[in-house]
Amino acid sequence: MTPEQISRYARHLVLKEIGGPGQAKLLAANIAIIGAGGLGGPAGLYLAAAGVGKITIIDDDAVDITNLQRQIQFVQTDIGALKTEAMGGALVDLNPDITVRREQMRLTDDNAADLLRGHDLILDGTDSFQTRFIVNDASLYLGIPLISGALGRFDGQISVFSGNGADGPCYRCLVPSIPPDAQTCAQVGVVGALAGIIGAQMALEAVKMITGAGAPLIGKLYLFDGLAATARTVTLPKDPACPACGAK
Ligand SMILES: [Zn+2]
Repeated sequence: MTPEQISRYARHLVLKEIGGPGQAKLLAANIAIIGAGGLGGPAGLYLAAAGVGKITIIDDDAVDITNLQRQIQFVQTDIGALKTEAMGGALVDLNPDITVRREQMRLTDDNAADLLRGHDLILDGTDSFQTRFIVNDASLYLGIPLISGALGRFDGQISVFSGNGADGPCYRCLVPSIPPDAQTCAQVGVVGALAGIIGAQMALEAVKMITGAGAPLIGKLYLFDGLAATARTVTLPKDPACPACGAK
């Protein structure tokens, strides 16, 4: 580590759960973020600040004024710019130590395995069940752990899936099929600060997974109620009949 890195990561280096070996793991890590939105943004900013050496941003959208209420990786002058470019620039501005790969495309069944292969972790903060199912399939196929966050109104949730369907539940053990009443944040609304809470928590779980600190949310679902300011963690069982990781 260079003298500048020792200064930059000083608050990690003094933590016994991270320290020099953990910081070296973060610097060597390669993390994919799907969706440069309300969750991907704060998660990406904290991962860049933490010194995650390689970050891939996958998104096909451009910055819109409605994003700025919660997507704090963007500023007013980014409106109209590609999200991958604007967020990629924000991450490198924050930490020139890291490399950002920008993938300006929508993740599909056809490109998911190629796009995600080689990463140590996948973060999914997208607003689409179709995309979440594709990401989950790729996570299982490639054996890459998946950190999944979701938001709506004043509520948020997060879980970590091991990437190995034999070891625990996958996303589709939780959501087997697309709910008939599925609604997006554009329809139901979301309070901006909630994206920061859950997005930062996705980054925290990523740091834990990479460094081995603590107990990740594998097989557990963390549920945050912003209106009541309460949270609870429930056990998430593996579903033997799961359409993605089940026996059939
Ligand atoms: Zn499953």
